[in-house]
Amino acid sequence: MRKIAVLTSGGDAPGMNACIRAIVLTAEHFGVQIIGYKHGYNGLLDQEYLPLKARNVANIIQRGGTILRSARCSSFKTEESAKLAAKNLNALGIEALLIIGGDGSFRGACHLAKHWQGQVIGLPGTIDNDIYGTDATIGYHTAIETALDSIDKVRDTADAFERIFLVEVMGRHAGFIGLSAALASASDQVLVPELCTDLNTEVDNIVSHLQAAMNKRGNCSYIIVTAENLWPGGVTNLAQTLHEKTKLECRPVILGHVQRGGSPVSQDRLLATKMGAYAVEQAIAGKTNIMVAEQNNQLLCLPIETSWQQRKTLDPYLVKIQQEFFDITKQAEHVV
Ligand code: ADP
Repeated sequence: MRKIAVLTSGGDAPGMNACIRAIVLTAEHFGVQIIGYKHGYNGLLDQEYLPLKARNVANIIQRGGTILRSARCSSFKTEESAKLAAKNLNALGIEALLIIGGDGSFRGACHLAKHWQGQVIGLPGTIDNDIYGTDATIGYHTAIETALDSIDKVRDTADAFERIFLVEVMGRHAGFIGLSAALASASDQVLVPELCTDLNTEVDNIVSHLQAAMNKRGNCSYIIVTAENLWPGGVTNLAQTLHEKTKLECRPVILGHVQRGGSPVSQDRLLATKMGAYAVEQAIAGKTNIMVAEQNNQLLCLPIETSWQQRKTLDPYLVKIQQEFFDITKQAEHVV
């Protein structure tokens, strides 16, 4: 193995830089040259790249975002694009391409592999944690911390003003951030796609739970964590509906892209570092069409298609205890 390339693609996630650093340092350790393509798959098509050496990755482990920039590249789905990318990779003598991104980016890797003889290896980097086969993805733990920090602050003002707050977190298809942030912040209610089957009855359930929480448990505020894109008309609409039904002040807070940013927490730095080093070792060992993953603290390789062919489910124990804490009927009456 003489030359490897790396790119970051799709939604960026804190820890991508830590991963690039580990890839570069491991490659240098084994005497392998490394280049970084810029702007996701766009860089492959436009031959926009830079050689990466240890000095290029100094002082980046603590930085969010990605020094290689990330992007979406809808034209990469065509056969011509994959052929052009293959030609460009061959022109530079690249033998393996490492892709840090989500399952969309991994589909792109498979698409490329149909037209390129080199090795493709995916590294799961997304705040959503929605990649089957790995306990966590790079960026997920930082995103929980970011959401948690905001919810704690919302709680302070909600308590002071005795209000209902709806906090919208990222995860339109997966409730990992929502469930974890809700449990860790002691929020009163969590609404994520996996747990909300019937939105019509959901509003009535929220209203009766909210009233019981106020009357029986003595809540002076009520925090609802909800996933984005779950409610027709958005979270502002839901806040209005709840206000009309309860006559209580109900404020929406949309956390949005702040959840993608920030300095990665130690769990993400370590996961990214381990996965980056391991991916280079697997490339040198000749592996292809794989994603690297971690299960029970053990690194492993899985077929890259696993990431989207199977759906990752929420931790059933977290779901169970969230539902038990939610069940006010079993809780003792609040006495003033
Ligand atoms: P993520 O990797 O975060 O899931 P996306 O789903 O937006 O993000 O995918 C990132 C990029 O991966 C797309 O912009 C495109 O370049 C590439 N990609 C996604 N799906 C495919 C596909 N089916 N074929 C080829 N390339 C794809």
